[in-house]
Amino acid sequence: MNVTELARKLQMNTKELLQVLPQYGFDVGMKSIKIDDRVADQVMRKWKFIKRDLEEKRRKELEEKKAKERALRKEMGKTVHIASLVTVRDFAEKLELPVTQIITELMKNGILANQNQNIDYDTAAILAEELGFSVEREEGKTELVDRSHELEEALAKGKDLKTRPPVIVVMGHVDHGKTKLLDTIRHANIIDTESGGITQHIGAYQTVWKDPKTKAERKLTFIDTPGHEAFTVMRSRGAKVADIGIMVVAADDGVKPQTEEVIQIMKAAKLPFVVAINKIDKEGADPMKVKTELSQRGIMTEEWGGDVPMIEISAKNNLNIDKLLDILLLVTDMNEANIQADPTLPAVGTVIESHVDKHTGPVATVLVQAGTLRRNDPLVMNGEVYGKVRAMRDYLGENVDEAPPSTPVQIIGFKVAPEVGDVMDLGKYDINKKIDVKQKRTEQSTSQRQHVVETAPGEEEEVGKKMLNVVVKADVLGSLEAIVGLIEKIKHEDVGIKIIGKGLGNINETDLQKAEATGGHLIGFKVNPTPSAEDSIREKGLSFHRFDIIYDLIDWLKDELEKNLDVEKIITEHGKMNVAAIFRTEKKSMIVGGKVLEGKIKVNSQARVLRQGVNMGVGKLTRCQVGQEQKKEVVEGTECGVNFEGYVRIEPGDILESYSEESKVRKLILI
Ligand code: GDP
Repeated sequence: MNVTELARKLQMNTKELLQVLPQYGFDVGMKSIKIDDRVADQVMRKWKFIKRDLEEKRRKELEEKKAKERALRKEMGKTVHIASLVTVRDFAEKLELPVTQIITELMKNGILANQNQNIDYDTAAILAEELGFSVEREEGKTELVDRSHELEEALAKGKDLKTRPPVIVVMGHVDHGKTKLLDTIRHANIIDTESGGITQHIGAYQTVWKDPKTKAERKLTFIDTPGHEAFTVMRSRGAKVADIGIMVVAADDGVKPQTEEVIQIMKAAKLPFVVAINKIDKEGADPMKVKTELSQRGIMTEEWGGDVPMIEISAKNNLNIDKLLDILLLVTDMNEANIQADPTLPAVGTVIESHVDKHTGPVATVLVQAGTLRRNDPLVMNGEVYGKVRAMRDYLGENVDEAPPSTPVQIIGFKVAPEVGDVMDLGKYDINKKIDVKQKRTEQSTSQRQHVVETAPGEEEEVGKKMLNVVVKADVLGSLEAIVGLIEKIKHEDVGIKIIGKGLGNINETDLQKAEATGGHLIGFKVNPTPSAEDSIREKGLSFHRFDIIYDLIDWLKDELEKNLDVEKIITEHGKMNVAAIFRTEKKSMIVGGKVLEGKIKVNSQARVLRQGVNMGVGKLTRCQVGQEQKKEVVEGTECGVNFEGYVRIEPGDILESYSEESKVRKLILI
């Protein structure tokens, strides 16, 4: 066989293969072109072990390399400057290491953080030192400042500053009523819309409310994606869209893990916020308990001398929503200096939603933050022209010609879909810098493809693989992202994990349906099934596992994957003999005689019958005799008789190959 053909079969580079083979006892020259078929056969049979061994070596080399790098950094006295707070991503950039490595290192230290979360100086310093860096504190600057220099710069250009509607984001624990509240506020609009108030979900909407003091009608803009995904995604890209936050806490449930996460996010972003204590209509509602729990976390209600407005509401019964809106206007006034923009500038804004419509093509919602966007304006994103405003629609689906600051508008006219968090700045319009649409589209499709591979095993990858399906639910976003990130890193050529569902909060009926339909496992990280889901799990015999430590969860998954691996057959070749004579032939066995050509022939070993190189079948060698003497094994050069049990009819001239076969449970060694 040609070496190249063998290399192709083994999916190896030919040169590498020739380098590797002698290391595993195959007598193949570095410049060989052909390889003996027998040897090639042996290589193929042993390839799984060789490959595994090579991977192990590679991993060791990598570890050593890392250790060397660490030592080198120490020697060179590489110093990094870290501020009192730094996002994991920025920290990784400073160290010039992959974010995933930093996340893993943090985990080893018991800290769960995704790339957008902040870690403090002390944590960062410990970690950096462990990795061989010297650390110095960067004074007077926190990394929390918005990273969107582009946006800051553009907004700073404004001279003729005018008050604009506040942009409000709603956050809180799952099921505490964020969506309901956004719906109720949407309907609180005092202006009856001509189109019958059929609001479109474009990522944000506006409500008009009468100022209780001045009686003037004022607009408020609400980001329509509840939860902190929208907020964190945009913030991670440097976008600063919201002016005020509403933290929703259900009065019958109190402060929950995601509430705590929201507190951190709001604090980190220095976002003024109000607390809406929701569901006060419910039996068991205890607003006092919520206030106490919040005060224990440094959030003190104005009633108790603190500075956070708290309103008890029922989003369902439209109770105190008017008060909430009044207070939002009050908070707007208190922060007036920051809620202003120059409407005369070339428009500046941030993409808050983006998708490709089957008929219309790319459609994106931009929140105009300064200046005024008009029809036919060029769409300048990231300094490049992405198209032209062909049409703009507001949240009621009505066509508009102008969008002043704080207005969300859905825009048609993009040649390429922008990404959520992209900054639009018409001031950067350079007629010569038209975007190369074709190239951008190719880039997009490649990055999308990469994205698919990164986030979930792509279809191609799964072909022929045994997949372990899982539905993962966690208590907070940080943990969920960390778990998903680690799962995605578990890669193996024969088995894989597919996340068929993920989310925050308890395991519910929808999760159950997904697991049932795919024979998947339900995994709860610090969360349990709801009582009704628990009953169904029992009835349907579904698999549910709860974990409180991420590593336990990952270890469990690896154990499950290992169970999916096929049992491995280990074959040991002993030797071969040629058959010179047939002494006896029975229905299920034969006695034959010949000479051992190579190695040994062993009793109780398996035997292959080869006729002119073709495998005729296998059987078992049950007895071996040299002269009158029974032997356990017979060595090269000896004449012997053997008892062969099997259905193959052996003929003189055949070769018997003696070998043993052992089954072994495979260990999961990841790629
Ligand atoms: P989200 O996950 O925070 O967006 O929560 P939803 O808005 O989807 O609300 C979760 C559940 O709580 C839904 O069944 C709502 O109908 C219910 N809900 C929301 N607000 C209230 C309220 O003020 N009172 C009562 N009784 N139920 C509410």
